[in-house]
Amino acid sequence: MRRPPFVISHKNLSSVLQKPAQLWTSLSPNRIRSRAPIKKALLIGINYQNARDREERLDGPHKDVHRVEALLIKQYGYNKDRIVILTDEENVPEDRQPTHVNIMRELNKFVEGQEQGDYFLVYYAGHGIQSTWRGDSMEEDGRDELIIPSDALGWNGQRKPELMISDDKLKEILVDPLLRKSHLTAIFDSCHSGTVLDLPHHRCNRVYTWNSRLRRIGRRVLELLSEVEKHRFSPAEIVKKTVDSKKTSSLPIKGRTMTCSGYCLRLKRANQNIICLSACKDSENAYESRDGSSMTTALIDLLERCPRPTLKETMRAVSSRPINGVKESSSPQLSSRHPLRMNSFLKL
Ligand SMILES: [Zn+2]
Repeated sequence: MRRPPFVISHKNLSSVLQKPAQLWTSLSPNRIRSRAPIKKALLIGINYQNARDREERLDGPHKDVHRVEALLIKQYGYNKDRIVILTDEENVPEDRQPTHVNIMRELNKFVEGQEQGDYFLVYYAGHGIQSTWRGDSMEEDGRDELIIPSDALGWNGQRKPELMISDDKLKEILVDPLLRKSHLTAIFDSCHSGTVLDLPHHRCNRVYTWNSRLRRIGRRVLELLSEVEKHRFSPAEIVKKTVDSKKTSSLPIKGRTMTCSGYCLRLKRANQNIICLSACKDSENAYESRDGSSMTTALIDLLERCPRPTLKETMRAVSSRPINGVKESSSPQLSSRHPLRMNSFLKL
């Protein structure tokens, strides 16, 4: 990232000595910007055209990628030059095929040169899988989720784990380096994608079942109680209680990490800048209808008629679509770094 040089003069040196914390805030990298925020997108769609088994091939991803691209340009002001598309379409050159090497290359340079306030959108439509091992993963279920590049699935259906890309890696490349005020929207229309970015909150963002409605009412009660508590305790006591509760929520339980209870309290000013919309829970498959329609189809249909839906409207729209006339059994998930306010708007 290019940053303008700064000079500490004699005059502001004295303010360093007087107000070091305040000056540090004003000079921190998150507050320095040399250009207006930009929007970048990486769109990956894999039909696995070379797979011999019809069951392994998908019909929707190519079509979905191009619909997403058109929508981003027409409706959300993305510049075509800042959209990278990887698909296994026949006319696409080698370096734009969604192979392991090409996907990793594009992921690695995706947030390069970012400045605060930039918008990043990652879209993936293809196969996903869960690891069968239960090793040292920090997942609740002990399993990692992985996406399957075009060359990680052999023509005879053979899986090549060494070419798959794990959730740990996706988080390391996409989430960890993101500046505090940058935005990342990830959309994974693939099987076992619930926590594919390893974001800690998902259960507390659900809106579409009776269970989650009851949970939200319970959380609201807890939030109100915590507001009352603020008036009963001194600021120092409240800080200690908050720190203690945070420690508790990340404690490993029998070698696993407890993440989202579903009752996670929303902080007043929590940053909602990193979200991941997934087609299903970690334990589920995502489905595609015979005509290739999927969660993406429902999402685009919504965005075309309502460009600025709330998160709640978004989740309701993608969660209630019939597949082949039957309400399907996968449950789209919205995961995030902090518990979300579902009445806030989806920012693309
Ligand atoms: Zn949560």
